[in-house]
Amino acid sequence: MTLTTIDCDYTGPEFACAFLRVEGDECAFVETNTSHATPRLLDALARAGRAPEDVRWIIVTHVHLDHAGGAASLMKACPRATLLAHPRAARHLIDPSRIIAGATAVYGEEAFAQLYGTIEPVAAERVRALEDGERVPFGAGELTFLHTRGHANHHFVVHDPQADTVFTGDAFGLVYPRLQRGRVFALPSTSPTDFDAAAAVDSIARILGLGAATVSLTHYGQHREQAEIAEQLRAWLEVSRAIVADGCDVAAAEARLAATLEDAVTRAGLTLDANDRRLLSLDLRLNAQGLAHAASRADAPRR
Ligand SMILES: [Zn+2]
Repeated sequence: MTLTTIDCDYTGPEFACAFLRVEGDECAFVETNTSHATPRLLDALARAGRAPEDVRWIIVTHVHLDHAGGAASLMKACPRATLLAHPRAARHLIDPSRIIAGATAVYGEEAFAQLYGTIEPVAAERVRALEDGERVPFGAGELTFLHTRGHANHHFVVHDPQADTVFTGDAFGLVYPRLQRGRVFALPSTSPTDFDAAAAVDSIARILGLGAATVSLTHYGQHREQAEIAEQLRAWLEVSRAIVADGCDVAAAEARLAATLEDAVTRAGLTLDANDRRLLSLDLRLNAQGLAHAASRADAPRR
């Protein structure tokens, strides 16, 4: 059994990763990052002494492009692999036109290409959609998939008992290695367009309930301090819920998140440098956009 964390160098080091699992004769990737990361993933496979033909599963926790943008590119390189995805994600991997149009509208064509490269469709017969609780065989064991809403409606997590971990995608927050300085420092991702605070809290409980030794986060790496991470996420999510309930716009949401950040930084005993602040301000901006979007939805919970 091996589990390798692969730094995808997405917008910088130790910001987004993918995982390689080797179990007996079989290999699996969890997350693909973007097509720019495909050579890094294949390089990790070669360093593990395995060939692209050994890859049985390519798994994406959800369809956001820092997780699944490289799926088609990696599938092309691994001829025997099947792509495993949430049913709501699978259709966008088979026909990525809506994702491409959405991201191009946000970033513009040039920045889109720089960030994500090209995104091709994946042949439908190579994609398998997994229902909540479904299992697939892997080596001598199996992987279990649990649907976890809150961050995105097309999100699942993967329980891997052999590695004694849960691959949590964006459902167990962001825990950047550079901000772990003796104490845990975690924050959730509440980016657009599906954020649901109550569902996010339920998903955290579901992940903890699996009782795995570690959580493996796409942002970033493996962590043992699940209880502390969960406690910090719940506090942030309570603030986030209130921001949605108050009907905040992006600016108001961002101001309240910035105040919450200062409290969290003080509590963690952190001193932030300019680079830390830059990293966190990007997340807070995205989180504020997600909360304002949730507040504007017709079904938004009110106080
Ligand atoms: Zn995401």
